[in-house]
Amino acid sequence: MKNAISRRSFVGLIGASLGTTLLSACAGAGTNAGDASSTSTPVAAIDYMVLVNPKHKVPDDWEERLDLVEEKSLLYNDPVRVDRKAYEAWKSMKEELAAEGVFVELDSCYRSKAEQQEVMDDFTKKYGAEYAKQIVAEPGTSEHQTGLALDLFLVIDGVQVAENEEMMKHPEVWEKVHAKLADHGFILRYPRRKAIFTECTYEPWHMRYIDDPKTAHEIMDADTTFEQYLGMESAYVKDCKVDYGTPSRYTDYAIDSTVDAILREFESWDGCHMTRFAYAGDDACGDDELAYVNELRASKEPNLEEFGQAIVMVTDFRSPSAEKAEGTAWEPDTDYNDYTWHLGRKDDDDEWHLMGWGYA
Ligand SMILES: [Zn+2]
Repeated sequence: MKNAISRRSFVGLIGASLGTTLLSACAGAGTNAGDASSTSTPVAAIDYMVLVNPKHKVPDDWEERLDLVEEKSLLYNDPVRVDRKAYEAWKSMKEELAAEGVFVELDSCYRSKAEQQEVMDDFTKKYGAEYAKQIVAEPGTSEHQTGLALDLFLVIDGVQVAENEEMMKHPEVWEKVHAKLADHGFILRYPRRKAIFTECTYEPWHMRYIDDPKTAHEIMDADTTFEQYLGMESAYVKDCKVDYGTPSRYTDYAIDSTVDAILREFESWDGCHMTRFAYAGDDACGDDELAYVNELRASKEPNLEEFGQAIVMVTDFRSPSAEKAEGTAWEPDTDYNDYTWHLGRKDDDDEWHLMGWGYA
């Protein structure tokens, strides 16, 4: 797989249960860089604090302002390209880590909008538009287009560990990497249990350069997200409390993955504000629940394959203010606590399907 041109990320995306729209924006997809001779002169300095996510696109003139450097890729034929300052910071961080016996390398970094579009077209041709949209980040919404996002892979005992699922099995190594980030002006862009704010599941390998170590420390030390630090998380989840408890049935990653389906529904409840997002616990996700979501599936979406997994998430939310509730069915300014969301999926590789919500 390593010598296939830039296809590892695709395989990872499909194979490693990353198949949700939620993920596609940040996981993105590797691509054949084609013409890699982009050593343009920067027109104006870029804003290292730029926020890019599905709701905030890369600024239009971004690419012409980028000053990229490239390094031979250890995984692909095409070189890895990174913003010059980010690259310098990365080199010194990498050196420090190596001195401590931690070995990391660059996987996927910069991708142009055109490359992202190519990937989208390629996937659309092969799998159809609907699936492509789920798997590949919409051009303009991938942080990889900024040149400030670095996906890393690990080298453990001399062996490359680059598959997402395999990399997840080394939390102690990531901990050492993450501890170094802020000193060098990086943040962990998609931290654990923060998907409700980032709309992206935990990605221990995705670093984001923001240039200023002091700010990076403020973000990392507070265990917060870039969105929250900037006050730019979606208004309907502002200050939402997250509680996954101590799940054993599901990984944080699997629980994070429910956010996409739930937010897609919740977002449409104009004016409602989520104040708590919690995992209902292992006991609530047993055989009875599985039978329940399969029943719903059979009546609502009979074309879906039978679910092998069920999960229940719990939220508290407040209905719209009197002003906003006017003309809607909402009783204004009312708290709805312990409101449940019922989701099912075939297996780890499937995305969660929202089957029911309300008071069970
Ligand atoms: Zn990434």
